Amino acid sequence: MARTSLKLILLIVLSALAVAQSGSQTTKITLLKVGRLLDVRAGKYLANQGVLIENEKIKEVGPLASVQAHAPKDAAVVDLSNATVLPGLIDCHAHVFIAAGPNSPGENMLLAVAGMSASTRALLGARLAREDLEAGFTTIRNIGHSGIDGDAALRDAVNQSWVPGPRVLASCRKLTPPGGQAVRLNPVLADKITDQEFLAVGSPDEGHKAVRENLLYGADFIKVVADADRRFVTLEEMKAIVEEAHRSGLKVAVHATTPLGIKTAVDAGVDSIEHGDEVTDDELKAMHDKGIFFDITEGFYGGRLRSLLQKSVVLSPEVDQELAAWEKKDATATPARIQRIMKAGVKFAVGSDMWFDYPGKTRGQATATMFGALRDLGMQSIDIVRAATVNAAEMIGWQDRVGVIEPGKLADLIATRGDPLQDITELERVRFVMRGGTVVRNEVKP
Ligand SMILES: [Zn+2]
Repeated sequence: MARTSLKLILLIVLSALAVAQSGSQTTKITLLKVGRLLDVRAGKYLANQGVLIENEKIKEVGPLASVQAHAPKDAAVVDLSNATVLPGLIDCHAHVFIAAGPNSPGENMLLAVAGMSASTRALLGARLAREDLEAGFTTIRNIGHSGIDGDAALRDAVNQSWVPGPRVLASCRKLTPPGGQAVRLNPVLADKITDQEFLAVGSPDEGHKAVRENLLYGADFIKVVADADRRFVTLEEMKAIVEEAHRSGLKVAVHATTPLGIKTAVDAGVDSIEHGDEVTDDELKAMHDKGIFFDITEGFYGGRLRSLLQKSVVLSPEVDQELAAWEKKDATATPARIQRIMKAGVKFAVGSDMWFDYPGKTRGQATATMFGALRDLGMQSIDIVRAATVNAAEMIGWQDRVGVIEPGKLADLIATRGDPLQDITELERVRFVMRGGTVVRNEVKP
């Protein structure tokens, strides 16, 4: 039987099952009693609020007494009157199919790609995604490095409740200049390995083709590497990628660290710049004018990378010195760049870029260390919260679904004990997680 017709029959059977299932489900109503609710748009707290949730969506938000009056008698009640409630967090730059470190089969990227089977890697992804959810990340954008289609499969598995996890946006393979990114291999032998992880773009035609290939595997957005060492995606190639992706309604997120890589991406009209280390003021202005997002990925700021690595491996004196020198440069350049981004009025979100096995921390806890890093480099608490909620939702194109606590949005919420606007590292100690109206964790004492 042809694959397409088999697929079609499967789809019909699955949707028939889904209809049968939803028909048998009763409406689930939950009332959250909230001591303090953060309105992330206004940047203000609202005291004694009620949040009424019907199945997976928020139905009503307002003063507790009036919301409670509208709640049915048999509604489940969750008492968060001793807590601060925020929208679920979004990690816009996640890599849950890599866990670099000595205690993991994915010791480095090459081992993850070449040393693990696709099945093993899928299970690693399921584990790290669950850990993200438990720490409060109710949505993640997995931005490359999941093999050919690991993140698309994970998304589907989570959506069908096969495994617990956050909502997943999948990029499938990264589009890169021929040769891939961040792997050093004998070019004569490399293709078999790099083909598992990257789609090589060496012409505009290959740009079109690569986007369509990712679509075939179920990508939700396209990740491009504009600059890999001294290899660049050309403007014509980038334009072809953007045209093809936008035709199918997919956003384009671009790893770019050099002025040339950033300029190419901005000129081609991509949707977000990831990292953006050497962004110029002209490029920031162009990003502002075109509404292109800056995805700030500075979770390792303030010596965090060296301290993480020192916990997991013995660094040679040379590597340690190299990292120390990099930190010294980073200590002035990065806060200055953040100031320039804010001053230019560029839209921004944040992503962790966490791809290490962090000793003593789950992936979610490791991911949340980015919040302290962002504070240390001078971001205001409310900007950090917005970057990981309402701004992030807009960047990924999900502003109608997540990122705020409002009627009609999915009931993805978290709670902390203390005040995250006073101490942003409260987000490292999330006590309550709800995803789509279902409580994932609750350690809030009434
Ligand atoms: Zn990354």
